[in-house]
Amino acid sequence: MDEHLEVVLGRVQALPAFEQPLMEAVGLVLCEDVVSGLSLPGFDNSAMDGYAVQTADLAGASQDNPITLPVVGEIAAGRVEHIVVTPGTCVRIMTGAPMPRGADSVVPVEWTDGGTVNVRIAQQPALAASVRRAGEDVQAGEKVLDRDTVLGPRQIAVLAAVGRARVKARPRPRVVVVSTGAELREPGTKLGEGQIYDSNSYTLAAAARAAGAVVYRVGIVGDDPKRIMDTLSDQLVRADLVITTGGVSMGAYDVVKEELSKLGTVDFPQVAMQPGKPQGFGVLGEDEVPIFTLPGNPVSAYVSFEVFVRPALRKLMGQMPYRRRPVHGVSLDGFSSPAGKRQFVRAAATSGDEGWMASTVGGHGSHLLGGLSRSNALIVVPEDVTSVRAGDQVELWPLDEETG
Ligand code: AMP
Ligand code: MG
Repeated sequence: MDEHLEVVLGRVQALPAFEQPLMEAVGLVLCEDVVSGLSLPGFDNSAMDGYAVQTADLAGASQDNPITLPVVGEIAAGRVEHIVVTPGTCVRIMTGAPMPRGADSVVPVEWTDGGTVNVRIAQQPALAASVRRAGEDVQAGEKVLDRDTVLGPRQIAVLAAVGRARVKARPRPRVVVVSTGAELREPGTKLGEGQIYDSNSYTLAAAARAAGAVVYRVGIVGDDPKRIMDTLSDQLVRADLVITTGGVSMGAYDVVKEELSKLGTVDFPQVAMQPGKPQGFGVLGEDEVPIFTLPGNPVSAYVSFEVFVRPALRKLMGQMPYRRRPVHGVSLDGFSSPAGKRQFVRAAATSGDEGWMASTVGGHGSHLLGGLSRSNALIVVPEDVTSVRAGDQVELWPLDEETG
């Protein structure tokens, strides 16, 4: 498994970065150091709704001995008023409004009677109280974000605040998902005898999207070699990565393997893991677009995605770490595990005061989607372990943290 993952990651390279509008860049990796062209705040302004004053005028002001000042003007946020606060006067001011010349602090409206002609003030503010100083947050010329930062809401906040409309970021990979199999039908249509709904293309499309990709779910292409190959070559233009499912094991209609083997650019190794033994990986077309041909069994397809495709997508996006961050916990159930294969067991895991605990869900069969839907983690059992007893320490991959 590690060898195959190494082959995959050796082949896949991070996508070139380009300038993107801020909202396109959410969740992406920043590919430039961002230096602010302006200071934040850009000008001295009020931190409160209140009155801009000269502090010295309010010496000794108290509840019992309020001081009354004439209100000589009013400044709202966004307004430019050329009012000057001279000794013995004040100006009504709103949060975010520029400080008028002459004033050295702001009295919050809560300390006053709220007057608009004259105002009674019951407390002296400290010098510079409730004033936000120009540049106290960010100085013009200061670096606000380092390259390789993943852009979340808090990073988008500073980008917008310093006036950036676009940033250089690594784009989302475009992923094409194709499912093969003559037995497959689209959900929402009627099933005939021997037919099943195509769940894999949905599973993988959802998983790829959760990993940050833009997904084109092509859906079902049947088992006809020509149709499969035509579809793949048509889809290559819009793909940074292609995922197919089905048709890669030892059956008589394992068309994907038969056809792609002929190209010589896709390999079909048997990987020592369970589920997910039959894998296929390589490149297609002039642009050498990476392609994963995942097994058809639904759980195998999903586990293969987690083990191989998700790390590849993260590498395309430049998002470290590529692999799931494992945690350690206790298995609440005992089960046997095949020798010589790394086993991935669906589990329901919780983390509490005593650390991670995991119970297995469903059975081992790789067609068991009901159990998969109740799982939120995989228990990973090494190749040389053949049985896990209840209470044993195990490696766990939590699956819900889409960022880790
Ligand atoms: P295959 O790898 O094509 O031999 O398929 C193995 C098993 O997975 C068979 O039982 C298929 O019916 C099933 N299977 C293949 N593709 C899908 C799919 N897209 N959705 C659900 N089950 C599938
Ligand atoms: Mg098939």
